[in-house]
Amino acid sequence: MTGDDFRLTPQRRAVLDVVTASHDHPTAADVLARVREVVPEVGAATVYRTLSLLVEAGQVAELRLGHGSPTRYDRTVAHHGHLLCEACGSVVDVYVPVSPELLEDTASPHGFQVSTYDLRVLGRCAGCRTDRTAPIPS
Ligand SMILES: [Zn+2]
Ligand SMILES: [Zn+2]
Repeated sequence: MTGDDFRLTPQRRAVLDVVTASHDHPTAADVLARVREVVPEVGAATVYRTLSLLVEAGQVAELRLGHGSPTRYDRTVAHHGHLLCEACGSVVDVYVPVSPELLEDTASPHGFQVSTYDLRVLGRCAGCRTDRTAPIPS
């Protein structure tokens, strides 16, 4: 925790604990449901505001998957990639070594200066590969 500008009240602590304990990149609604198992009286606005504060404070990462899907929250703030299942929406962290030199070599012919990159691998998770009833996305 850095400085006094982000006070960890019990409700905020509960939100941070829920995200830290999660392995599944929960949505804000998922986080709210889990926090309410511990702090039943917590308000939705408090949880959502706390998530924003935790992201600003660098304690939680935001994962935007686009296509109108809700923002997910990631306990892993170090740079990493994601395996994203197109059938069930599960998200798994992966670490793919991509060298800064490779990125520069790829981008510099376009006159492009790299600030960061975002690695997302789409496909089917182990569970969905064996489940023949899972809907096939169009
Ligand atoms: Zn799946
Ligand atoms: Zn992640």
